[in-house]
Amino acid sequence: MTTAAVIAGNAYDVALENFDSAADALELSPDIREMIKYPERILTVTVPVRMDDGHIHRFEAHRVQHSTVRGPAKGGIRFHPQVTLDEVKALATWMTWKCAVVNIPFGGGKGGVTCDPKHMSQGELEHMTRRYTSAILPLIGPQQDIPAPDVYTNPQTMAWIMDTYSMTKGYPIPGVVTGKPISLGGSLGRNEATGRGVFYTIQSACEHLHLTLKGATVVVQGFGNAGSIAAQLLHEAGAKVIAVSDSTGCVYNRNGLDIPGLMHLKALTGKVEGFPDSEAISPRELLTLPCDILVPAALENTIDGGNASGVTAKIVAEAANGPLTPAADRILERKGSFIIPDILCNAGGVTVSYFEWVQDEQHLFWEAQDVYNRLERVMKTAFRDVLKIHTERKVPMRIAANMLGVGRVAEAVQIRGIYP
Ligand code: GLU
Repeated sequence: MTTAAVIAGNAYDVALENFDSAADALELSPDIREMIKYPERILTVTVPVRMDDGHIHRFEAHRVQHSTVRGPAKGGIRFHPQVTLDEVKALATWMTWKCAVVNIPFGGGKGGVTCDPKHMSQGELEHMTRRYTSAILPLIGPQQDIPAPDVYTNPQTMAWIMDTYSMTKGYPIPGVVTGKPISLGGSLGRNEATGRGVFYTIQSACEHLHLTLKGATVVVQGFGNAGSIAAQLLHEAGAKVIAVSDSTGCVYNRNGLDIPGLMHLKALTGKVEGFPDSEAISPRELLTLPCDILVPAALENTIDGGNASGVTAKIVAEAANGPLTPAADRILERKGSFIIPDILCNAGGVTVSYFEWVQDEQHLFWEAQDVYNRLERVMKTAFRDVLKIHTERKVPMRIAANMLGVGRVAEAVQIRGIYP
């Protein structure tokens, strides 16, 4: 088995284990479990693309609809060399519980194309995106399944999807995707929504733990959309971001990194490596640095039974999807770290996707401050709801979040009943 298959296979096992723990704690009946545990629909497609050198390359791609019980399937599209069907199934499953935790009227879905976007031209990416869109066309639509950005996809990718879908139908349909450029019906505040949501949940956790954010030390693993915005907002709030990593390297300064400067370097070179006024450290050293807040914002399973014991952070804020394995969870639980689980912590992205979809459907657009205020309300309410289950039922935050999400989907399926 390849490394990619090991990582991805793992992620779906983790998703199923998360579900079982929540279902047990909720004492869900076997009938309800059967109805909501597994994906409703899975489509695997071949995406042939003529590459710049003239040859045709076949990409494998998927779209998984895990649930449409509470509304249309919702979730991003990932372009990454390690994408597998199992990984997409895991991510789609997490989307269902995530949308239910923040109580937005969506189910869960996810898409993925196994490709290496860092080594493809804009033209190749556009052709691949358009052909993939046409292959999954029967599944998607503003009332059916609404894609969005995920790892290595962005507003431009969403614009190509919106255009391909609209050209096929014959009229513009902006509500088919979220995370679009503003000029195509995107929402103000969507691009930074995941990082902003992470920030709001960290504020809530600090309040709960009586920790002052000003002067708190922060380590961020992964400096993409979610990690960099979370770092920026924490920096602006007076926290000291002492170390940051991306797929190319890790930079450290015990007195705090200049985050706006680092974002500038990343935008210019695509790397954090070589940032002036910092020293290079290894990924393992990064995770074990003494700090108050650790933000894993990269991929699944980056903190596992092998490296979790070195983590000393008081708060672990999961900006990524599935960064902690169940073994890591158990170790950190024993050490007393407070975990803000992914389906709560990073739900700001899909929450503003919901706002974008509402604006598109109403053809009426909101000001940035309205988006921020509503997002803060949604995130802080969800945090309070999860914390209440955590304290009243004496379960870890992850189980509490899954109980809230799974419980809401279970309630909906029970009321809907079974067809025919
Ligand atoms: N890809 C993001 C996530 O994992 C956002 C999904 C969306 O906005 O639909 O939550």
